[in-house]
Amino acid sequence: MSVFTTSSSQKSSVLGCVPGTSSVLQIEFTDILTNVDELLRPPLVSSYVAPGFIDLQVNGFAGVDYNDPGAGCEEVARSIRVMFQTGVTRFFPTVITGSHESMLASIRNLASCKAELLRSGQAEGVAMEALHIEGPHISAETGPRGAHPVEHVRPPDFDEFLRWQEEADGMIRLVTFSPEWDESPSYVRNLIRSGVVASIGHTKASGEQIAAAVDAGATMSTHLGNAAHPTLPKTQNYLLDQMVEDRLSACFILDGIHIPGPFFRMAARAKGVERSVLVTDAVMPAMCEPGPYRLGQIDVELRPDGSVVLQGGERLAGSALRMDQAIGNAVRLGRLSLREAVAMATVNAARVGRIAGRQRGLSPGEKGDLVRYEWSESFSKLRVLQTVVAGQTVYECL
Ligand SMILES: [Zn+2]
Repeated sequence: MSVFTTSSSQKSSVLGCVPGTSSVLQIEFTDILTNVDELLRPPLVSSYVAPGFIDLQVNGFAGVDYNDPGAGCEEVARSIRVMFQTGVTRFFPTVITGSHESMLASIRNLASCKAELLRSGQAEGVAMEALHIEGPHISAETGPRGAHPVEHVRPPDFDEFLRWQEEADGMIRLVTFSPEWDESPSYVRNLIRSGVVASIGHTKASGEQIAAAVDAGATMSTHLGNAAHPTLPKTQNYLLDQMVEDRLSACFILDGIHIPGPFFRMAARAKGVERSVLVTDAVMPAMCEPGPYRLGQIDVELRPDGSVVLQGGERLAGSALRMDQAIGNAVRLGRLSLREAVAMATVNAARVGRIAGRQRGLSPGEKGDLVRYEWSESFSKLRVLQTVVAGQTVYECL
């Protein structure tokens, strides 16, 4: 097992093209980027370089369920090492709707994993950037609720958030809620005052309720286009209300299953590239073999087509998407340029998730998180060659 230090004083460098340009960059880094130079007479280079990918929504990965309070620190670290193969350098472990006690236990476990990994100098602790709490203050209605357990849905309660944040040792930075509750505007104001991003999701809110939440400070839509009724009024509904609200950025699960390409293209045009973010919403079976799995108390199935559904039904229960594939899908299904797709998985995510030292891209002084990759134009396929977290190479394709 490799052990990585969380900060590196040793200077290293990588060379790579920038998509959509003829530039070849030489980037020198320690735990931060120290020099970024465009070479005037570059050697022939076929690989690209980008800031390390960021994923604001990961429920589990490689057989480890981050909602399981019994997930051991070593297991969590192992799953993160698998995630490094996909170019992700920072992510938000995501805790979903559950009982008061089980949510607190999951939050406590993840915070203590991060602390332990950082104490032992492991880059996996650095990669656990912050927590995303998705629910339980969401819609109880079938459709908008998605796969969240109805018995644990409840109205917004800032005192409950304060208990989460205490257990998390301040690690929570993103909360997904529904504006349909009367308590939502004051809940959002309190979240914002605590430095937490308020994101609208799993909702059936009216236009007025969404506007009130945005006025109160909500800045994001969680996996826009998913967790919705199967049919909606054609010209007035909560998806359109969020799409046309310029103060909201939006995250998308682009696995080719959750939303079709044309929906993504429409939503990304409405939001603009700079307000669009790719997430995986991966659950524990991601990067595992197809078959039955258990997520907490929910039985799910990973199908050969990559969908993760509640067992015996069709309702999606997260994805088995990986971020390198999401970027390829954004080019193939979303008809974006590679440069735009990479922005949605890097600087845009850093801005929306308020990740310090990651919002300016490949600039000196930014954190030393990098991905070197190959890109196949004909297959819209991205292959990660090297992943660097805080100056340490944590994955290299041999
Ligand atoms: Zn969700």
